[in-house]
Amino acid sequence: MENGEMEPHVLIFPFPAQGHVNSMLKLAELLTLSGLRITFLNILRIHQKLTLHTDIQSRFSRFPNFQFQTITDGLDNRLIDKFSDLIDSLKSITMPLLKQMLLSGEFGPTPTCIILDGLFNFIVDVDAHPNIPVFSFRTISACSFSAYSFVPKLIEDGQLPIKGEEDMDRIISGMGGMENVLRCRDLPSFCRLEDPFDPGLQHGVTQTIQSFKSRALIFNTFNDLEGPILSSLRSRCSNIYAIGPLHAHLKTRLSGEISPASSVSSNGLWEVDRSCLAWLDDHPPKSVIYVSFGSVVVIGDDQFREFWHGLVNSGKRFLWVMRPNSLAGKDGVPADLKEKTNERGYIVDWAPQEEVLAHKAIGAFLTHSGWNSTLESIVAGVPMICWPQFADQQTNSRYVSDVWKIGLDMKDVCNRETVTKMVNDVMENRKNELMGSVIEMAESAITSVEEGGSSYCDLERMINDIRLLCKRQRDTIG
Ligand code: UDP
Repeated sequence: MENGEMEPHVLIFPFPAQGHVNSMLKLAELLTLSGLRITFLNILRIHQKLTLHTDIQSRFSRFPNFQFQTITDGLDNRLIDKFSDLIDSLKSITMPLLKQMLLSGEFGPTPTCIILDGLFNFIVDVDAHPNIPVFSFRTISACSFSAYSFVPKLIEDGQLPIKGEEDMDRIISGMGGMENVLRCRDLPSFCRLEDPFDPGLQHGVTQTIQSFKSRALIFNTFNDLEGPILSSLRSRCSNIYAIGPLHAHLKTRLSGEISPASSVSSNGLWEVDRSCLAWLDDHPPKSVIYVSFGSVVVIGDDQFREFWHGLVNSGKRFLWVMRPNSLAGKDGVPADLKEKTNERGYIVDWAPQEEVLAHKAIGAFLTHSGWNSTLESIVAGVPMICWPQFADQQTNSRYVSDVWKIGLDMKDVCNRETVTKMVNDVMENRKNELMGSVIEMAESAITSVEEGGSSYCDLERMINDIRLLCKRQRDTIG
């Protein structure tokens, strides 16, 4: 092996979904900036959308030690009904291909380690590559990861399954670091399944257990936000790096560059409509509520109508992201509401979310509580109304409302009266209180990614550990 081949080289592989690719690209950029050689492996159909709608090719071309590689998930652009279809295809098609690519040296120098999305730890055959340690990157919050990890215990001690609707407000006990915070309805959504052996539930649990077995766990979070949970997790896993919020971390490190690239990088899979920024410019400070349910949630026609009337009745202006196909009905926004929307609000297919949240006209965020959206709202100092739909979102929204006290939880409710009340509460009646706590949290987030901050130090530690790992591998061979 030549000397040059023993420089630290990290293979990064995200799960094929917007929130995952977005945060792992930010991590890739941070690691590239530190001088590590990076291969970013992407599912082909995702990569094609990214290259179509973003500047990733030119943005990363300035790093000589960075390369994109692609691999198929076997679906191409075929639509799938179930999450399990994607998992099956990844197992049967992508996994053997990845093994082959690693064995044949297709990524260049053998990777020092793989930073793998913990949602599909199974994709790396660790027996075939015993010398390449896996770091598991969890794109969800530490609180929801911790909740996932306790599911087997909750089943064992009879706290799960949930016994119907009347059981939903029962408080869950015995979860280290999060005592008496969660009710049944705040557990990850798959806990609502009646069958504890359901494949979806089992997948979530298995991948979580697998993450604990990896060389290290990486979280997009920061100590001031999730300190007690991180300490509890640290007692169960030898090495945890909490290096978030990644988008703020990247921005801080880029600002130190002599000729920085754009400090807000879009990693979107849809064409961004920037016209909404000009629309926002015409509105007074903190007068508009931003509405977005992320990249996966689909809402029914009735739900759309309840949100629409609730927003209009609040008297506030709204900016609403309506992705193509995000309304269950075939015809999109109902014609009778479409015309009236122009009086009160603005609808776009896809927004430059980080910039929208940072705009002075935004006073609140009606969100599905995806983890990226939650962190982006915190950093921008914008209080939230949470309408969680699945996976980690149920837990995130509970923490937003009851632990961090930076928003309100509208979980399991969707009627116009509640929407109106919550919008008025967040933007008027409880504005000072919620705004005060979210701005305090925003300041902590920024401090954590500045030199000497907890996330800054954890990232430095991680980079040093990867360099050390490489040195040890070199010594063993040499
Ligand atoms: N996003 C965006 N424009 C939009 C809506 C969402 O750029 O109009 C981004 C948002 O900034 C976030 C990501 O898409 O980074 C959504 O991730 P999240 O974890 O919040 O939710 P998911 O889509 O995974 O459910």
